[in-house]
Amino acid sequence: MHILCTNDDGYMAPGLAILQRAARRLGSVHVVAPDREQSATSHSLTLHLPLRARTGPGGVSVVDGTPTDCVILALSALLEERPTVCFSGVNHGSNMGEDVLYSGTVAAAMEATVLGIPSVAVSYAGRDLTDGLGWSEPLSDLLKQVLARPFPTDTLFNVNLPPIPPAEAKGVRVTRLGRRRYSDSLMRGHDPMGKEYYWIGASTPAWSGSADSDFRAVEEGYVSVTPLHLDLTNYRLLEEVRAWDLTMNPAP
Ligand code: MN
Repeated sequence: MHILCTNDDGYMAPGLAILQRAARRLGSVHVVAPDREQSATSHSLTLHLPLRARTGPGGVSVVDGTPTDCVILALSALLEERPTVCFSGVNHGSNMGEDVLYSGTVAAAMEATVLGIPSVAVSYAGRDLTDGLGWSEPLSDLLKQVLARPFPTDTLFNVNLPPIPPAEAKGVRVTRLGRRRYSDSLMRGHDPMGKEYYWIGASTPAWSGSADSDFRAVEEGYVSVTPLHLDLTNYRLLEEVRAWDLTMNPAP
């Protein structure tokens, strides 16, 4: 198995080392990662600047772009062989609920999914990933199970690890996305010149969600596995919206 590993925290991030260790137990690994922190860059593409790749420590490919750029370059330019699978992470901090809309970690996995590569995003719900070292082996076992059956099309798996040693984790729970609102966590302040500034995400965000949601699983000490689909269509609403009989008047 040829495995592409990437992340959004940059090629030096401890979480990427944990992911690499997990991936090496499953196959050959090529790392293509951003040269710096790219968290919350979502699915952004670099369209108006050239991209460069260099070889970093341990043979990793370091790209001066976003996580999505990394996946595109990996497949189109940097890897000799098309990867069998893509792993993204391990992100420093959870990616649950609406986080998946902002996350570069999830976006990288999603880009691989768009390009037809089975893909898993992994995040650690703690800040200090030196505490997360014990997760490599259990994570590897989990990834192996996820890959053991035919991979569902247009789907990626979003894994969140609880911020506790794996021996203390209660198990794995398959979950749905919870709700998290960063807009509630805007901080205001004044700079030294007296001018007002705003800081998004500066305080602890508010959570809500059902018992089978991702954040409840992590809160209760489980590993959360959420299948995500590329198609954002609201199928439950389609018939109702069709009944609205929307029209457009010709221009006067
Ligand atoms: Mn990140």
